[in-house]
Amino acid sequence: TRTPVNVTVTGAAGQIGYALLFRIASGHLLGSDVPVKLRLLEIPQGLKAAEGTAMELDDCAFPLLRGIEITDDPDVAFDGANVALLVGARPRTKGMERGDLLAANGGIFKPQGKAINDHAADDIKVLVVGNPANTNALIARSAAPDVPAERFTAMTRLDHNRAISQLAAKTGAAVSDIKRLTIWGNHSATQYPDIFHAEIAGKNAAETVNDETWLADTFIPTVAKRGAAIIEARGASSAASAANAAIDHVYTWVNGTAEGDWTSMGVVSDGSYGVAEGLISSFPVTTKGGAYEIVQGLEINDFSRTRIDASVKELADERDAVRELGLI
Ligand code: NDP
Repeated sequence: TRTPVNVTVTGAAGQIGYALLFRIASGHLLGSDVPVKLRLLEIPQGLKAAEGTAMELDDCAFPLLRGIEITDDPDVAFDGANVALLVGARPRTKGMERGDLLAANGGIFKPQGKAINDHAADDIKVLVVGNPANTNALIARSAAPDVPAERFTAMTRLDHNRAISQLAAKTGAAVSDIKRLTIWGNHSATQYPDIFHAEIAGKNAAETVNDETWLADTFIPTVAKRGAAIIEARGASSAASAANAAIDHVYTWVNGTAEGDWTSMGVVSDGSYGVAEGLISSFPVTTKGGAYEIVQGLEINDFSRTRIDASVKELADERDAVRELGLI
């Protein structure tokens, strides 16, 4: 019998947490033969709701779920953690300045990074979902100097999945026929979904579409603004698809990308493609054996260069702002 994997989820009582926890417990995060122990971190006001969710998890009698612990103490929540999903964050409220937003999130992600540094298992893998995800990941990472930097990642998989879906709808292809799509940059409205290296059933996607106006005026803004469109339609934010993307991100990280394909992850830049070293930016990555590599050698045309640079500039600005606040 396998030792259970410790999975910590922050903001566990929130909307995304509610859509996420049941799939972790049923084996979708790591694999259908991997037992898990859940640690749920919440702020004190969220503890009671987290207990309610834990009661429902019990009531599912999931064979793979070997325990649930609920706490408001990061040191307890991350003790021995193998996988950490940082979902809880301070949302931007009306009239809030960016500096206030970054400072509020620094107050969450800095102590969590330190707790991960001091208490997590040696093989810890961290995914930041809570926004601004890339910069929150940067803050957590900076507070964890003993953890290899590449273990801190930010989620752009939802953007990646949205882009695949839009491209499939445009071309009539099956989503499973679309490979090598890339999200570059920040998980924000400046993100750049790139189809120039993507393939549809083995043929180049940009050539198949052959419509730069659609690309610039429809595809890119539709993907980048999809979150707002869902809030408009549903009256609530995209919790289930965000949870699904978090599952996909970790599953791919642990279990590997398919031969000939890649995925998109916010990872610490090594300077590839002119992205300043140390920024947590989305790149095309392949994964194998629990590790990942940034795909190298892709040719970046002018259309892509401008858009990648704009999103990376936003990341650099966010980094400078949190540096000024003493958060990194
Ligand atoms: P959600 O569960 O809906 O969202 C949580 C975070 O995920 C937000 O920062 C949200 O960003 C982000 N997110 C990233 N991608 C997406 C996406 N595609 N769609 C929607 N959200 C996305 O928020 P709730 O308010 O329902 O729940 C948050 C929970 O976190 C609360 O229970 C709160 O108590 C808890 N919390 C816990 C903390 C902790 O454990 N220390 C700290 C802070 C909060 P965005 O704001 O842009 O929507």
